[in-house]
Amino acid sequence: MILDSINQELLTLKEKKNYRSLPQLIHNGRDVTVDGRRMLNLSSNDYLGLANEVSLREAFLKTITPETFLPTSSSSRLLTGNFTAYQELEQQLATMFGAESALLFNSGYHANTGILPAVSDARTLILADKLVHASLIDGIRLSSAKCIRYRHNDLAQLRRLLEENHGMYEKIIIVTESIFSMDGDEADLQALVRLKHDYANLLLYVDEAHAFGARGEKGLGCAEEQNCINDIDFLVGTFGKAAASAGAYIICRQTIREYLINKMRTFIFTTALPPVNIQWTAWVLKHFADFRSKREHLLQISRKLKEALTEKGYNCPSVSHIVPMVVGASEDTIRKAEELQRKGFYALPVRPPTVPEGTSRIRFSLTADITEKEIDTLIEIING
Ligand SMILES: *Cc1c(COP(=O)(O)O)cnc(C)c1O
Repeated sequence: MILDSINQELLTLKEKKNYRSLPQLIHNGRDVTVDGRRMLNLSSNDYLGLANEVSLREAFLKTITPETFLPTSSSSRLLTGNFTAYQELEQQLATMFGAESALLFNSGYHANTGILPAVSDARTLILADKLVHASLIDGIRLSSAKCIRYRHNDLAQLRRLLEENHGMYEKIIIVTESIFSMDGDEADLQALVRLKHDYANLLLYVDEAHAFGARGEKGLGCAEEQNCINDIDFLVGTFGKAAASAGAYIICRQTIREYLINKMRTFIFTTALPPVNIQWTAWVLKHFADFRSKREHLLQISRKLKEALTEKGYNCPSVSHIVPMVVGASEDTIRKAEELQRKGFYALPVRPPTVPEGTSRIRFSLTADITEKEIDTLIEIING
């Protein structure tokens, strides 16, 4: 009986073309092979191209022996899982950011679903950008705070909401991403920091998942670029994208770090990441500042693609390496994605409900190991 209704729901998903299944992929460095067709991957989050850099892995492996290769922590950090590698990486991050402290998490999803419930209660108001990532939405749902979503990057509306509500709550947390994952546009962090200084009970939460590694002189993200690292109370980023690893961090004050260690369920009740993974992250981050030319190249090819799309008449709000080509109707988008794939570019369509109705798009997610020549070819196909 229960299986019948589950099957019915799956059928409905298929009818509405919203059914998801796992693609069969074979990876060959920058390329993926799907259904026997080998294509350049334009849908990866490996923004610096580090995941394909064998020399980086070779150098790292030389630092590891069978004795020091620890593939598991066997415990939560609060019990016996607190290997020295974690504290070393946290110290390294705090130093890189010039901040009081850092704390590591198993993933960005753990971070975003754990921090907000830990630091808010019924006297908290969360004001969240309409387009924040699903993990932040889930964190808000798990918290006992009241939440209002403001229109994407609409600071005038945000200011009005603050004016109306600030007296009624003990604290207000503004939640945003720095680079947004579907539009590739950016939040004005400095303007948010200015707002913060107008209210005594305001805290700022910024998710830099798409910006960490890709932006800033040292690769620390948009907060570095906009010179406001120390004005952000919860500065969160992930290692699964540009850092070619796994896990996540928060940069925060020491008091907040201690509070999270005591209150944050997705930190307390989970086995810590394998120490070898933490060591690999530390290894990559040690070289982060040296990847400046990769960041510059990434931005340059991204601008080139955006300009070509705009010239062709596509709406493209991007200011980053996430470059959407907004087509509109879902069928047209799917057709265009298939055409690109036939011609050797693995680009994927994004449709409602992931994006608003009528804004189906091909989402190019560029990486620093894509050449300018490949972008030129892509542009020719789009124009053709
Ligand atoms: C990818 C992403 C996450 C999730 O991070 P994981 O480490 O993959 O769990 C969180 N927030 C944003 C904005 C992301 O893009």
